[in-house]
Amino acid sequence: METKYIFVTGGVVSSLGKGIISSSLANLLIARGFRVTIQKFDPYINIDPGTLNPYEHGECYVTVDGHEADLDLGHYERFTNIRTTRANNVTTGRIYQSVIDKERRGDYLGKTVQIVPHITDEIKRKVKQLGNTGQFDFVITEIGGVVGDIESLPFLEAVRQLRWELGRDSVCVHLTYVPYIAAAKELKTKPTQHSVKQLQQLGIQPDVLVLRTEHPVTEEVRRKIALFCNVAPDAVVESADVPSIYEVPVKMHEQRLDGTVLRLTGLPSDGEPHMAPWLGFLEKMRSATESVTIGLVGKYVELQDAYKSINESLFQAVTYEGRRLDLRFIHSEKLDEGNVDETLSGMDGVIIAPGFGHRGIEGKFVALRWCREHDVPTFGICLGMQCMVIEYARNVLGLEGANSTEMDTKTPYNVIDLMEEQKSISDMGGTMRLGAFDCALRPGSLAAAMYGRTLVSERHRHRFEFNEEYRSRFEAAGMQCVGENPATHLVEVVEVPGKRWYLGTQYHPEYSSTVLSPNPLFIGFIDAAIRYKEERNESKEQ
Ligand code: GLN
Repeated sequence: METKYIFVTGGVVSSLGKGIISSSLANLLIARGFRVTIQKFDPYINIDPGTLNPYEHGECYVTVDGHEADLDLGHYERFTNIRTTRANNVTTGRIYQSVIDKERRGDYLGKTVQIVPHITDEIKRKVKQLGNTGQFDFVITEIGGVVGDIESLPFLEAVRQLRWELGRDSVCVHLTYVPYIAAAKELKTKPTQHSVKQLQQLGIQPDVLVLRTEHPVTEEVRRKIALFCNVAPDAVVESADVPSIYEVPVKMHEQRLDGTVLRLTGLPSDGEPHMAPWLGFLEKMRSATESVTIGLVGKYVELQDAYKSINESLFQAVTYEGRRLDLRFIHSEKLDEGNVDETLSGMDGVIIAPGFGHRGIEGKFVALRWCREHDVPTFGICLGMQCMVIEYARNVLGLEGANSTEMDTKTPYNVIDLMEEQKSISDMGGTMRLGAFDCALRPGSLAAAMYGRTLVSERHRHRFEFNEEYRSRFEAAGMQCVGENPATHLVEVVEVPGKRWYLGTQYHPEYSSTVLSPNPLFIGFIDAAIRYKEERNESKEQ
């Protein structure tokens, strides 16, 4: 079959959840047996979000092939189990970069290089790149930003041209907002009408409208929007707030979004998607009553998207273990010897977050010492693992002033140090150790037991590493380096045997955890947290 292209655009306001709608649609099409991929086109000039701090765009997600990507790619993977790559995330910066490179090579043969057609052609080429591999029946392209932004114009012009060229092989799904005016007790359709009009002025007629709303959309509102926007009434879909984003595919299917898309592309739309595994997960989620309390110690706690993949991995693991997640964000900058006891004593498990730079670092050491001494299940991820090593060096090995050279270039004990390959690097963009690498696990270790195997592959994003020179001293003092890269021997996993669960990974297991395939380390960590909670409950009862 010809590859079908679905474009997802957004109007009225940002943060409507285009990524979740795209992921949900992909989820349903996959459940109907189609081969699907999703890509995100971001209108900003940065080459990738790797150089953006989390205050700008939330977490930076990392693909297996080492691309620092928009966090929506994390949703795509979690909802669909597909593995995205650098081809699934394109920015204006990358489009311009390749056009300028071609110009310098002389590829344009003396022509004046312009937004139309050169930039738009490059966008079109990128849109079709994955489709042209022949590996996909559907390519879903999410256009970042909001219709009306100056920055999105070349993307929308490319979509207009592609729609014209592709005919029935393309569908445009437009996401808008339907506000509820409490004083009038009414849902307002005007912003949607305006946003569709804006899209029409650019030459794009949406086929499907997804209405984000906090109040149920009445039949009348639906009909009105259909009439004013030239869309079939059954192609106007409501997307109301739901307790969990993982319910969205079900809500979309209830309104036959998948069937409508199939009908619009001329494919048979009868039949049902195979949703049993997904529904099983939702059933577990709904039936859980008891909670498990996890503290996440980091410096971006006021940002709900900064640790997105960790939150979702925890949520998945907790759901599989039949509990509800009670996640507490703990500001590492505010943590000190005076308040650590009161802050952490209610936690069933503690995660020390990844991160960069000095801010909030000492609070992480305070948390770690407390967790280690109180034998609380503790999970350090990337910088969190490095902090585990530093705290152990200072307080168990007695290496006063031990640190990472990232935080203190003059530390007497550089137990975490810049990787050799990083020493000659001056450009900050895309130059970390990025993407999936193998890690060999020591047989008999906690890590190996949780994965159920001794060779794993996980994703990375770091410049610093465990300093090999200290390895034997750590091992003699109890902290074992149980995971390493088979080729370079870079230490990937440390753990302290004899503890309930005290483990750190240089890699980011959260990037590979999906709803249908949760990461074993998160499952193991949550398991330990639940056991710890039960132990404490039992001792209280006695
Ligand atoms: N800042 C640390 C490094 O670069 C850790 C990075 C991270 O936590 N992702 O090695």
